[in-house]
Amino acid sequence: MGAVKARRYAKITDEEALEYLPLLQRVRDASEVTPVLLDRLFGAWAQEGHPRPGKSVLIQAYRALVRMGRLPEEREMMRRLQLKPVRTISGVAPVTVLTKPYPCPGQCIFCPDDVRMPKSYLPDEPGAMRAAMNQFDPYLQTANRIKAFETIGHSAAKVELLILGGTWSVYPKKYQEWFVKRCLDAMNGVDARGLEEAQRLNEGSDHRNVGMVVETRPDWITPKEVERLRWLGVTKVQLGAQSLNDEILQLNKRGHDVEATRRAVRLLRLGGFKIVLHWMPNLYGATPQSDLEDFKRLWDDPALRPDELKIYPTALLAGTELYELWKQGLYHPYEDDVLVDLMIRLKLLIPRYCRLNRLMRDIPSTDIAAGYKHTNLRQIVQREMKKRGLRCQCIRCREVRGQSVEPDSLRLEVIPYETDVTREYFLSYVTPDDHLAGFLRLSMPNDPDASPVDELHGSAVIREVHVYGPALRIGSDSRGEAQHIGIGTRLIAVAKGIARRNGYRRLSVISAIGTREYYRGRGFRLERLYMHADM
Ligand code: SF4
Ligand SMILES: [Zn+2]
Repeated sequence: MGAVKARRYAKITDEEALEYLPLLQRVRDASEVTPVLLDRLFGAWAQEGHPRPGKSVLIQAYRALVRMGRLPEEREMMRRLQLKPVRTISGVAPVTVLTKPYPCPGQCIFCPDDVRMPKSYLPDEPGAMRAAMNQFDPYLQTANRIKAFETIGHSAAKVELLILGGTWSVYPKKYQEWFVKRCLDAMNGVDARGLEEAQRLNEGSDHRNVGMVVETRPDWITPKEVERLRWLGVTKVQLGAQSLNDEILQLNKRGHDVEATRRAVRLLRLGGFKIVLHWMPNLYGATPQSDLEDFKRLWDDPALRPDELKIYPTALLAGTELYELWKQGLYHPYEDDVLVDLMIRLKLLIPRYCRLNRLMRDIPSTDIAAGYKHTNLRQIVQREMKKRGLRCQCIRCREVRGQSVEPDSLRLEVIPYETDVTREYFLSYVTPDDHLAGFLRLSMPNDPDASPVDELHGSAVIREVHVYGPALRIGSDSRGEAQHIGIGTRLIAVAKGIARRNGYRRLSVISAIGTREYYRGRGFRLERLYMHADM
């Protein structure tokens, strides 16, 4: 008991305190704070990939930030922080790491260029600051992050690794391999001799890698790159699409066209990856009306239809080419109410199979020269939608989030949709009030031999299985929560049935190291880069 207490109240460092700055700013910016609202702020924070803080940690962080001069000392803030939020839970500990500063071949006119940072990151963004404090060392970043989760009593038995920074595919291959290996070494607590050994060791580690994400440019995705990403252990790829209009892409000097995005999405889909697109409203040359049209293309164009989406309204940053255009009166950031209204319209277009991860980047408001500066755009949009009786249908807005689930009340929902190269099935179990207890993405290629990876030829492919519930230690017991009532198993059985009816004799799955055991228990065996089950 004593030891637990000592761990829970361990003193946090200034570095850890800085990490909570944006969250504390949101608490401060809110016009009014109730336990429910506080919980929502915390929940949104955790969904963005941060560890969910306990009350004492947040108070400590606030005191440290006051001492550092980053926040003013206010009685009201202390009162807000002492409220007890209703705790919500998510299944996995997200660990975000940044690659070292490195040039990007892109010339995007809105992108900041700080030599101390990987391209597109600002030195005072909390994640970037934390990475710099660890000298961008992958081992230190991962190890410290895991420690941060455990200090606040959050399990890190399942780790989703989010590798951010510039354009991943541009980094030297040796560096990529070393970087991933060192992240795994930190999870394993052992220095392996090479990447493949680190991957093997991770299968039995206390901190298993259950997902790996990188961000890159569409024009760098080739068949070879798809295979290599899988070899590194990647399960999800974030692509900067930014716009689906060649003219806008050109005006903003993106250096690739819409066709490049289509090609990349196609290859990744056929490689079984989960696909996240980044999309930006308010680029140079866009209007709210053209943005709305552009956004519709994400869903109307069968070559796109991403699984997840990040909307990043263009932030006007000093030192960029866009900033010069603004000074010349050639560029105008949208007014606040125009942006909020646009966001609401966009949200209403998102289909049920897509997850809107973010609708704003965590850029400190002090860096933004003009335009929308509040960090709580999501909350404002949500409040406004509620007022108007509107509801976003995206995955994120429907997740059960720790609500207990009655297995018998769940309804299976099957959403089929076409892409230019596959027939997709989004299978989910939904509660009576339309919350998601879990889902599965099944891809059936129109041409069974179309995948850039030979190993997938002739296979229907599960690109994702996601069941909601708290992050538990692997092997520990629990009842009632979504992760443990066999929702995943049921979804896989449904997927098998659909694949079989469509003439497939083999079902494959892209699996992170930490999920191999799970799939083995369900009849899959590991070949080289994927796991397979005959049917
Ligand atoms: S591709 Fe990304 S990182 Fe590179 S310049 Fe463009 S926005 Fe910046
Ligand atoms: Zn939503």
